[in-house]
Amino acid sequence: MDNAMADTNITVIGAGVTGLTTAFLLSKNKRNKITLVAKFMPGDFDIEYTSPWAGANFLPMGAEGSDQARYETNTWPWLSNLAKNHPEAGIHFQQCKLHTLAKDIGARGSLFAESRDKLPWWKDVVPDFVSSVGSDGSIHYSFTSVCINIAIYLPWLLSKCLEEGVNIRRGVIGFVTDAADLHHNGKADIVINCTGLQSRKLGGVEDKSLVAVRGQTVLVRNDGGPMFGISSIDNGGREYEGSYSMTRAAGGGTILGGTFDPTNESPIPDLNIAVRIMEHAVKLNPHLTGGTGKIDDLDIVRHGVGLRPLRPQGPRVGEVDVIRGVQVVHSYGHGSWGYQGSMGSAKEIERVVAQIEQQKKTAGKVLSK
Ligand code: FAD
Repeated sequence: MDNAMADTNITVIGAGVTGLTTAFLLSKNKRNKITLVAKFMPGDFDIEYTSPWAGANFLPMGAEGSDQARYETNTWPWLSNLAKNHPEAGIHFQQCKLHTLAKDIGARGSLFAESRDKLPWWKDVVPDFVSSVGSDGSIHYSFTSVCINIAIYLPWLLSKCLEEGVNIRRGVIGFVTDAADLHHNGKADIVINCTGLQSRKLGGVEDKSLVAVRGQTVLVRNDGGPMFGISSIDNGGREYEGSYSMTRAAGGGTILGGTFDPTNESPIPDLNIAVRIMEHAVKLNPHLTGGTGKIDDLDIVRHGVGLRPLRPQGPRVGEVDVIRGVQVVHSYGHGSWGYQGSMGSAKEIERVVAQIEQQKKTAGKVLSK
């Protein structure tokens, strides 16, 4: 039997940025027949669904030479091409100004962990990078980033999947390989697990090493001008808080942040935190209120809370488990960088899927001899 042209049935679990990007990339190969199944879809807001709560921008966070750094590097051309040539994706270029205070340099676990050198490894990945060191030892970066209007981008990704023939359906999976039975062609050969933080609970995975890192934000109608970030603010010794603002493309408003708190999973916005976020934003970014420095001049759209799916030992991207006879390929644990590492992660999954297909082909040839 020559199975050189055999199709591969794939079920992707998850419609966050990881699942959608992965399904889209895999669907470009017409031998892949893809069903995507998810509990939450673009348009939904829930604490179990991280992607709608992101900023989102591109600021590399992986350690130099790490897999994460590779995924982030491999995602920039994708985002940059969308910003340049596809306004319908809801992504635009934004100048980004970042300040790492001397006391935060080298601090692990914060959003600025890889912004500690005058010349970070990613200085040539993004355009227009310049940096300086202040007399107090603080580090300042200016570069061109992107800001993603996630309210446009997630549905856009979904529509690209539909265009490529991906079969999309709602479903709640109890045990990971049950997803194989939901494939539109009968049974999937491969299940791709893009369930983010819910991989803590998903039967057959139950990864207890995942940590939910709470991020609280405020979305305002005010124009925040260029992207701004400072590594930390004085919040009386509570869990880590920085201050950032990013102005989303196409009328998406400006996201003000934010917290990075691994000790609290409450989905309810804490109004004390919200006031601190807004006070620092108007003080540090005069674009927001024309320099009045008053939070009453902010026009609030909504308060937000999302839980970042952090895996302290690194993400699980491209690892394969064979469970109940089904090949399960994982892509979860993207912490604070799910968007900026999305296409790089998807390419890794594409590589692993091609490897599995090749093995299947070789096994088929041996059997037919
Ligand atoms: P999710 O978005 O959580 O999606 C998981 C999917 O799996 C959902 O569709 C869910 O319904 C489905 N699912 C889970 N379990 C099951 C099940 N059992 N059955 C069926 N379906 C299931 N990243 C950046 O790159 N740049 C940023 O600027 C940025 N800013 C952020 C700001 C905040 C405040 C927060 C909270 C996060 C930020 N992030 C940012 C991180 C980014 O949002 C995440 O890394 C990313 O959204 C993770 O996406 P995901 O697809 O892996 O998971």
